[in-house]
Amino acid sequence: MGIAEALRNVREEINDAAVKSRRVPEEIKLVAVSKAANPGMIAEAVRAGALIFGESRVQEAEKKVKSEELRVKSEKIEWHLIGHLQKNKVKHAVQLFDLIHSVDSAGLAEEVNRQAEKINKIQRILVEVKLSEEASKHGVAEKGLTALLVQIAGMDNLKPEGLMTIPPYFDDPEKTRLYFRRLRQLQDNLNALHITHYAFRELSMGMSNDFRVAIEEGSTMVRIGTAIFGERK
Ligand SMILES: *Cc1c(COP(=O)(O)O)cnc(C)c1O
Repeated sequence: MGIAEALRNVREEINDAAVKSRRVPEEIKLVAVSKAANPGMIAEAVRAGALIFGESRVQEAEKKVKSEELRVKSEKIEWHLIGHLQKNKVKHAVQLFDLIHSVDSAGLAEEVNRQAEKINKIQRILVEVKLSEEASKHGVAEKGLTALLVQIAGMDNLKPEGLMTIPPYFDDPEKTRLYFRRLRQLQDNLNALHITHYAFRELSMGMSNDFRVAIEEGSTMVRIGTAIFGERK
């Protein structure tokens, strides 16, 4: 199956999951995770209508964003950083990415704010929340979430738009449901506190294996790689 056809299938499934849970398909954004795709493959996805691309590493993303194949088209494309961000990469990340999904500490937020201020940018961010005990996962723990958002709300060059999570992997996607539901609850709780003058709207949750369940639980951004670009080597 080609990339265009795969994208069409994914879009159809997003629509079906939305309708099934009485949601408007337009409120669910598709982040095409291109970490294993080369610029030619990304260009193919752009031709097939993909508008948002997710990358997990700053340096690899930089090569793609600046590549010849994508330069002409890149005006209307959004690039999202979905992987863990190290402090020494923040400067480049702020130059490259429209949305950073992986802010998970006050120190990192401060550095993003500082670098954004230098280039006069309001950096859109999501706060990554860690809902499981897996040592390999990044993210702020639930109990530190409110305090972190209060701190972020005081940083002038950040615009927090919502939350992101990566649940543990299960073959049975139904097992991820409680994680997604929990993230939604946490967002509702935060919104009830009115930490900012606007509501946090985005919930970045759901990958190739479990995006249907994530949409049923309120996802507004699904991050899909394998189902669009094929298995990673
Ligand atoms: C790789 C990755 C994805 C996409 O995963 P697939 O299973 O290939 O859809 C989504 N989110 C993050 C954070 C990733 O690193």
